[in-house]
Amino acid sequence: MKLTVLGATGSIGVSTLDVVARHPDRFQIIALTGHRQIEVLAGQCRQFRPLHAVVGSAADAQRLIALLRADGVTTEVHYGTQSLETVAALPEVDAVMAAIVGAAGLSPTLAAARAGKRILLANKESLVMAGAVFMAEVREAGAVLLPIDSEHNAVFQSMPHNFGYDLPKAGVRRILLTASGGPFRSMSLADMAAITPEQAVAHPNWSMGRKISVDSASMMNKGLEVIEAHWLFNAPAEKIEVVIHPQSVIHSLVDYEDGSVLAQLGNPDMRTPIAHALAWPQRIDSGVSSLDLCSIGQLGFERPDPVRFPCLDLAYRALRAEGNAAAVLNAANEVAVAAFLDRRLPFLAIAKVIAAALDEVSVAPLPDIPAVLEADRQGRAAAEIAVARYAR
Ligand code: NAD
Ligand code: MG
Repeated sequence: MKLTVLGATGSIGVSTLDVVARHPDRFQIIALTGHRQIEVLAGQCRQFRPLHAVVGSAADAQRLIALLRADGVTTEVHYGTQSLETVAALPEVDAVMAAIVGAAGLSPTLAAARAGKRILLANKESLVMAGAVFMAEVREAGAVLLPIDSEHNAVFQSMPHNFGYDLPKAGVRRILLTASGGPFRSMSLADMAAITPEQAVAHPNWSMGRKISVDSASMMNKGLEVIEAHWLFNAPAEKIEVVIHPQSVIHSLVDYEDGSVLAQLGNPDMRTPIAHALAWPQRIDSGVSSLDLCSIGQLGFERPDPVRFPCLDLAYRALRAEGNAAAVLNAANEVAVAAFLDRRLPFLAIAKVIAAALDEVSVAPLPDIPAVLEADRQGRAAAEIAVARYAR
């Protein structure tokens, strides 16, 4: 299978290449992309010898070419959004790992959908922003969409084989998304006022990029995942529930009409869902060790706390509002998280900024990509104003 890895230098990208390297007869890398970590990308090009590499700027392309040619690596180097779209849609590519973070992932992931590729979807933001448009493109082009997000991959594994986007027909009562609760699960609201970026990016169970780590700490990650589940499984908001499960062993569950609940379990390591989607419908070694239930001992469950973690309800609000609301939510969240990581915004103001953006931008239909980009722009503009209001 011939692969493009978008976001190869990130947490998911590195885990993907770890799995790929275990199966040299099975996978061949056609293209790798990275935004700024040029040394990391150069090392990956040396190891996997892709035909193409894409970086963010002309200057970084020159740096990468210099590093590669010094080692006799002939990978063609490109830069910019258009090149990301090109390598996602190359005719010889069978599957695309979509692992760019944030709204920047939308256009190349969409290019892969239009080209009818197998899409291994880590970039949940593209579904949150543009779910209806994106799913229509997937269906029209006959692309195969496989979830990498551990919860959605678990739901996918717990669904009937050909569930056909029809939950009632499949006998599904509810989808239960598990959430670790993040590093502040049991912190008091008073203490949460002083949370620093360093504390927020230190997740207890998962090692991830900075943006998704903050999203996990605020529980907006789970909110984005509720919207992601809505599009992936054609599930209405009231059929998607969130349960806190601090051990991150059960990755999510499907509740059926007859009372059966099916779940997928495993060690919290993204190489499991990555290997599942890479080989689907077969199974391959991912490098992840077997789950040792007796050493885990206990599994716990709690209800999410809407007072300390209001982001989850904001995501349900955006999902129920339909149209552009989820794109506004996503854009405002990206602005708020960046401001928090820059120490310009207190942690608890992240939710306030998102709520302000949802209040400010009126709900409108989202028929096409220009409308998605307009909603993204409006969400960012409203959020910047709110950041200035709540700045420390
Ligand atoms: P990361 O920050 O570690 O990596 C992000 C990647 O995107 C890097 O390769 C970076 O070079 C690239 N990138 C960043 N900005 C870019 C831009 N403007 N243009 C082009 N490329 C750009 O992030 P990650 O943790 O690997 O997460 C990637 C995606 O996967 C996110 O959407 C995240 O929500 C999702 N995801 C991650 C995990 C996880 O465990 N890390 C789990 C589930 C879902
Ligand atoms: Mg997840």
